Amino acid sequence: MLQLSIVKSGVLRRMCTLRRSRGHAALLGDYKWISLQISLYSAQNAMPQPTHFQGLNIHALIIDNVDGEVLALEHNQIHAHQSPVEHAEQRALRMAIARIAAKRARTPATTVEDYYRTQMFYDDGAEDADFLQRGATIYTSLEPCPMCATTILVCRVKRTVFLLQDTTFGGEWVSAKNQYYKKYNLSYGQLNLSDAGSPLLAQVRDLHQTMSRRVEGVRNDKVIDTLIFDHLIEELQTGFKLFCQLTPDNLTTRGDHNTANTRTFDDLRRICNVPIRPPTSPEIHFR
Ligand SMILES: [Zn+2]
Repeated sequence: MLQLSIVKSGVLRRMCTLRRSRGHAALLGDYKWISLQISLYSAQNAMPQPTHFQGLNIHALIIDNVDGEVLALEHNQIHAHQSPVEHAEQRALRMAIARIAAKRARTPATTVEDYYRTQMFYDDGAEDADFLQRGATIYTSLEPCPMCATTILVCRVKRTVFLLQDTTFGGEWVSAKNQYYKKYNLSYGQLNLSDAGSPLLAQVRDLHQTMSRRVEGVRNDKVIDTLIFDHLIEELQTGFKLFCQLTPDNLTTRGDHNTANTRTFDDLRRICNVPIRPPTSPEIHFR
């Protein structure tokens, strides 16, 4: 019975990923690329504040799909707060809820329930563009655990993208979505950089593939997925260098997406302490 449910869960997950991969063929490379930066940020900044082994663990980024604003960027702080619930996604969602409440406040005519079911991080629509331009996207370094997957669904976050799959605690989003949230048009899947639109983005795609391969080796050494970023320091630092080299020419977006994506880049650069202008020297120093 247990085996059956695991197989079923795996099949559902693959179906879901495949369906979304096809449906989102037009996804913009820069948005996907941004999700990689969550981990790069952790490599650059999180080491002085260890949360797991060295602190290079889970980050969560929430972006307003409407205008590209970074609503929250948080990392796991279960050690800092000595609390099992301080996962990156939980912290980021709380911060984003506060920001959205200030930015697009609920009107008295709308109930609290209707507000978060239809307006907070969600807006109906099942076309490709709807997942990019409506509601919000949460990016995570690692596939969300059952607690966070459920919270993301409770909040009706329009789109969820994770950098690396969690073979230990992942997969719950698909099961819960199918059981409790069937009527909502939500998307969920691993970062897909197959349509990288510039040489720099192609480098990021290759780096992502390298990380995925490295993770397989790390898993073979019996490291649980929650700690895999502690074993990817070199790749994360390489990624951060690529992030620093980014210029507007590398944006693969066009037309009306450009304004929102530029906003996201500007916000991320500011939050991650990356100069607006790329450094003239290729030398990037890490702490
Ligand atoms: Zn979690």
